[in-house]
Amino acid sequence: MMGNENVPTPADIFGQYVFTDAVAKTRLSKATYKSLKATTELGEPLDLAIADEIAAVVKEWAVSLGATHFAHWFMPLIDSTAAKLDAFIAPTQDGKVILSFSGKELMRGEPDASSFPSGGLRETAAARGYTAWDPSSPVFVKDSTLFIPTAFFSYTGEILDRKAPLLRSCQALDKQARRVLAALGNPAKKVTATVGPEQEYFIVSREYFNQRLDLRLAGRTLFGAPSPKGQELDDQYFGILRTKIIAFMKELDTELWKLGITAKTKHNEVAPGQHEIALIFDTANVAVDHNALVMELLKRIAERHGLAALVHEKPFEGVNGSGKHINWSLTTDDGENLLDPTKDPYKNPQFIVFLAAVIKAVDEYADLLRLSVASAGNDHRLGANEAPPAILSVFVGKELKGLIDAIENGKSFACSVAPKTNLGVDILPVITEDRTDRNRTSPFAFTGNRFEFRMCGSAANIADPTFTLNTAVAEALSDIANELEKSTDPKKAVLALASKIFKAHSRVVFNGNNYSDEWVAEAKKRGLPNMSNTVVALKALKADKNRKVFEKHHVLNAVELDSRYESFLSNYSKTINVEALTLVDMTSRQLLPAIYRFITELSATVASLKAAGTSSQPIADKLAKIVSLAEAIQAKADTLKADTKAAAALESLDCATAYCDKVLPDMKSLRVDIDAAEPIVPATIWPVPVYSDLLFRL
Ligand code: ADP
Ligand code: MG
Repeated sequence: MMGNENVPTPADIFGQYVFTDAVAKTRLSKATYKSLKATTELGEPLDLAIADEIAAVVKEWAVSLGATHFAHWFMPLIDSTAAKLDAFIAPTQDGKVILSFSGKELMRGEPDASSFPSGGLRETAAARGYTAWDPSSPVFVKDSTLFIPTAFFSYTGEILDRKAPLLRSCQALDKQARRVLAALGNPAKKVTATVGPEQEYFIVSREYFNQRLDLRLAGRTLFGAPSPKGQELDDQYFGILRTKIIAFMKELDTELWKLGITAKTKHNEVAPGQHEIALIFDTANVAVDHNALVMELLKRIAERHGLAALVHEKPFEGVNGSGKHINWSLTTDDGENLLDPTKDPYKNPQFIVFLAAVIKAVDEYADLLRLSVASAGNDHRLGANEAPPAILSVFVGKELKGLIDAIENGKSFACSVAPKTNLGVDILPVITEDRTDRNRTSPFAFTGNRFEFRMCGSAANIADPTFTLNTAVAEALSDIANELEKSTDPKKAVLALASKIFKAHSRVVFNGNNYSDEWVAEAKKRGLPNMSNTVVALKALKADKNRKVFEKHHVLNAVELDSRYESFLSNYSKTINVEALTLVDMTSRQLLPAIYRFITELSATVASLKAAGTSSQPIADKLAKIVSLAEAIQAKADTLKADTKAAAALESLDCATAYCDKVLPDMKSLRVDIDAAEPIVPATIWPVPVYSDLLFRL
């Protein structure tokens, strides 16, 4: 159906470029469709015999949408996704080509792709890399190319990406959750982790973006004095969208809908120039793919509108950075949300057990969850009084806290009736209040029927936090299942078991203000880990209990864990290396020359005043000040250059530690003097756009 004046509605275009279930049903043979469905919905192994038919049908469908190429799309250990494009063409004897695409080409790719991080894994083994089709996330057409979501692994079968551990973790979680459900008499055939990602980003003018090497190369400003106006007036949050932003967002929504991505909510965020887009939740696997596409399309569509989208965690100092919220829950094949507290949670053993599992998981694997969101970019955010702290805790709200306390102490609990708010104006509706209040400072909050993990950085792929959470909860459920399976009356056993779990783990429950210094002290008393940066957080990958849990649930093996440890260290070091070199480059080729020009001009002013017989102390002082800043900037840039070179010569943990402990502080210190010089140097001389340009002018 078309909307008014033949303008297509979102319903008309939604999923246009996706090989959806409906398309599969009409185009595939009945038997093949049924067999594929058993794989995508119930996780049964793919029947290889049907691959050729699927490939032929998918090719025909893709070509009808203008596709000339196909690509195995994968998620190596970098933030963005990767793909190698192959044309559908195959030569014929008469010098022409036909369009061909085989089952084998659909199922498996050999992109080699030896340049992606592998943490040394591929130097010892043969360098070949392979991709394998993930049928649980639909293929789609974009840029005249059929994209096939895949997992990426090495010749020796070790995984090199983010998707394979995610899929493995979903499988582990399904298995353990069903054990618990079976013990409680629930016959669910499948339990799926659901994820709803919310993505924050900044939009700046493309022209200004192009003028700042730091934004182009490092994704963030490496210096910049505060704008006279920042976010203090709160007039941006949920504010009226600027005209250019409206046009940009409209195109973004349209393109996302065409790809079957449920772009639902959009609004201005707290900082000037900052926005958010949220998707309706989906299976964890699809949500991860969709969030990656959101990040890609944000950047590309912004460019078409003369804008630049910044997905970095901290593009500007002094205003909020950007994160990502991962809303997470568990759903059965029957559509039952296992984290729905229902009317009377005390009488709902199933809810109690899953709530207990999540709390236990977060407490036992807090260090792994912290690590799963660690990156050089996110280090600027976590614990910076704008984002959750680096300490994991769980917010459950007053009501559930009452439930937990009661169960812990062996008492019964009656839920309060949800209160009604009457606004005192007859025409306004009387509203039933939500059972859970809100706590925006919590890193991990219960929000009615799901948990919201809020520590993730805006640039990150959400696969890592998702598979870490899945694995930690799978492990907690496995322990719980072991107990329940032993019991003669599992439903009755739940309260005693939950009491034990809450006693051991309610130290991680915290409903207060996570930004306060008191909490940092209190968390320390409770023995909760507080890892302030990525290098410290990475130790979690070496801890025995963490390696065991990944190995036990077949999410990551020892070799894969070591490979990731090295990859993450090197990724961290390289990120800061780029930042340091960029700052040195901008300082010596742009900033210092501008400052020297101003010094020359100001010296001439001082000299001519003197010649005219009037000398002005304030003007002479200003000259002295800018000269001394220029000296400091020159000296600090030299130090930064030397320390960066020394850090780059080191390896692995030593290298990352040097970047963290030496190079980053050097950059900070240099920036202090640059930011002091910027307001003194005339706008006509300062060579790059300043914060007020970037934040307030599109
Ligand atoms: P808030 O302001 O509470 O963060 P938003 O509307 O911005 O709310 O985001 C809510 C997110 O939670 C959406 O992405 C939504 O799809 C997601 N969500 C809702 N229910 C579930 C669920 N059962 N599992 C996972 N995510 C969910
Ligand atoms: Mg949210």
